[in-house]
Amino acid sequence: MSRYIATRAIRGANALVTEAELMLDKALAEKGPDTPVAFPNTAYYLPVIYGMTGFAVETLGQLPEVMNQARRLLHPAPSPNKWTPYLGETLDSGMATLLAAETIEVIRQLYGLQPEPMPGFTLAGGTVYQAGGDNGLTGRLNGAIDDIQLRSWGIQLVDGRMPGFAAIVGAAKTNEIAVKIVRELQRRNILVFLSGNVNGRSIIHQLMEEGVDLGYDTYTVPFGTDTISAIYALGFATRSALTFGGLKGGMARRILEYNRDRVFAFVLALGEVDDLKYAAAAGAINYGFPVIADTVIPEILPTGITTYEHVVSMPFDEIDGADDLERAERLVQKCIEVRGVKIKMADVPVPVPYGSAFEGEVVRRTDMRVEFGGKNSRCFEYLYMAPMDEVVDGQIEIVGPTFDEIEPQGSMDMGIVVQAAGREMQKDFEPVLERQFHYFVNGASGIQHIGQRDITWIRISNSAADAGFNLEHFGKILHARFHADFGAIVDKIQVTIYTDPEQFQAWLETAREAYDFRNKRLADLTDDSVDEFYSCTLCQSFAPNHVCIVSPERLGLCGAYNWLDCKASYSINPTGPNQPIKLGRPIDTEKGYWEGTNDYAKVGSHGVVEEVAMYSIMENPMTACGCFECIVMLIPESNGVMVVSREDTSMTPAGMTFSTLAGMAGGGLQTPGVMGVGKFYLISPKFISADGGFKRVVWMSSFLKESMADELRAVAEREGDPDLIDRIADERNAATVDELLAWLEQHNHPALVMDPIF
Ligand code: SF4
Ligand code: ZN
Repeated sequence: MSRYIATRAIRGANALVTEAELMLDKALAEKGPDTPVAFPNTAYYLPVIYGMTGFAVETLGQLPEVMNQARRLLHPAPSPNKWTPYLGETLDSGMATLLAAETIEVIRQLYGLQPEPMPGFTLAGGTVYQAGGDNGLTGRLNGAIDDIQLRSWGIQLVDGRMPGFAAIVGAAKTNEIAVKIVRELQRRNILVFLSGNVNGRSIIHQLMEEGVDLGYDTYTVPFGTDTISAIYALGFATRSALTFGGLKGGMARRILEYNRDRVFAFVLALGEVDDLKYAAAAGAINYGFPVIADTVIPEILPTGITTYEHVVSMPFDEIDGADDLERAERLVQKCIEVRGVKIKMADVPVPVPYGSAFEGEVVRRTDMRVEFGGKNSRCFEYLYMAPMDEVVDGQIEIVGPTFDEIEPQGSMDMGIVVQAAGREMQKDFEPVLERQFHYFVNGASGIQHIGQRDITWIRISNSAADAGFNLEHFGKILHARFHADFGAIVDKIQVTIYTDPEQFQAWLETAREAYDFRNKRLADLTDDSVDEFYSCTLCQSFAPNHVCIVSPERLGLCGAYNWLDCKASYSINPTGPNQPIKLGRPIDTEKGYWEGTNDYAKVGSHGVVEEVAMYSIMENPMTACGCFECIVMLIPESNGVMVVSREDTSMTPAGMTFSTLAGMAGGGLQTPGVMGVGKFYLISPKFISADGGFKRVVWMSSFLKESMADELRAVAEREGDPDLIDRIADERNAATVDELLAWLEQHNHPALVMDPIF
């Protein structure tokens, strides 16, 4: 252990704890001890403090106790002439630093200083639920990550789509290097947390200046421009252990071990390292997260706290490489190596960066080179199964002109037709595979893909076009990704891109016939017309007793798996998470009980659940993990249910927000009256059909009303009440039970005169 690092970390910790105490005294005097303190949308209080000490802090008055604990962890700096192993003291100081940092951030929030104001800044994607995001709150950085986002990333961290996270603190030598580092991380689907500065300049400023989209959608979260805001990364790590590791507040040791073993994270310190950064780094090392610095600092070798080295110095100018960009790339590789992050990356031969981190990217009209589909042109995509000997694997053909002749920001018609062949390929897989185009194409940086079938809309940005991206690359992407992701069923992929007007038209008609045929087939596919449902146990990695039972008329609660997907997944991987459930003898088809589903529920839940009613929320409802798109919950006074969507952060008539409700709905237990569902289940004729069906919905997040307007209109018709959706309240007109009841009376909601729901 280096005395130099110990001295600086201990000094930094002492200073920060003192600063936190002073701020706390001032806040107590000005606001009083009963003032509530909390980060937005989390059920884990102040997460680091809660995880490490077990204190569920809800008011200012509880914080002095936390500060006492922090002070007890402090040590005097090592004396200059005595050598002792300082690691224990350094780690303690690191922990004290974290407790103080979290205290400071929550107090700053009381004063409106968190999330940090940043004039002119807008978070990428405009996701409505973003903590400091677009709820009219532009002009601020992100601040703490909320539980909703934690869950959605959590599942990706668990299933390996996302290998880990990088907490970058400081500023890079140049803007160009900053962008390169972030791109290299995004390319590997590594989540990027940004904070800190060097002499006032932060990597956040650098990325903003270069026009890099920052926000949840691009896997880059700007916490704040000081070192203290890096605490949000550790709050995220702590909550990962609490949520996905099933641990409780106060289990400090196990939370830290969970992170060391399961969360592949590291700290990348860019630029000069001051006392506070050393102290914060010591905090991160407690979690098993190594620190890599691009400046000269003493290294700390392994002692078991982290997997490999604790602190690694890699002075930027000494890195081998032809230029700064290559050095930046090496630096990122070194980080990955030190942390032992496992990377899964499809090799896609395109001239732009490629990875899921680019899926959320938006190409604005002003940045656009050309578009296909949208207002002024049409674009379609169509995949069909063809005999093995008719498909030339890897062949990509462009029939018609390229976009060279199109003026900047112009548009043209395009059809992407894919022939797929494989020994295991089936006609039923066509739509499942075709739906992947969206994810595959969106993975390319500078390409935006929206919609599907004949309402596809694709944009190519100027920067992608300048980098040499052309029509052929759509084919390259599809070819590479289908082989990488669906190699078990697809042996050959051939792509033809039609821009020639006549051919385009002819293929569009062929494609439309196929869409029609599939629609009819899917519509025919009802629960009563099949003799098996499918299980999904994908989420058992973090909700060990939860099973989704997926039927043609009820998709998985995450919205990502419907019956056909499960069937396809089973054929691809017969021992995988989706198994057929033979229905066997019907027990009660109104409520949705079969011998087969009951038997499966018992086995799949390891005995936690005895029976499952497929169509009821009141009796043996299906359990939930944590990734539901919506929560359905009984409002007893209204004789109906409310539906809250994940995007909705407002207060509901149940007196709770989505994130609080999520705590009740998840966890793999049956809770009558509460259920997590996929949003397309809402429009199914089997939606809580045993309890009266869709007419029971008395309140619904406006987000759902708006984003599913057409589908909901069709449901209202089906239920014989075309105005039904307008009779349903939402957060804009009813935030309490009283307001809800008044609304229902006023609008003649049918639930008021239906049979009692229980
Ligand atoms: Fe998880 Fe259910 Fe979705 Fe499967 S269907 S991934 S178990 S939420
Ligand atoms: Zn889940």
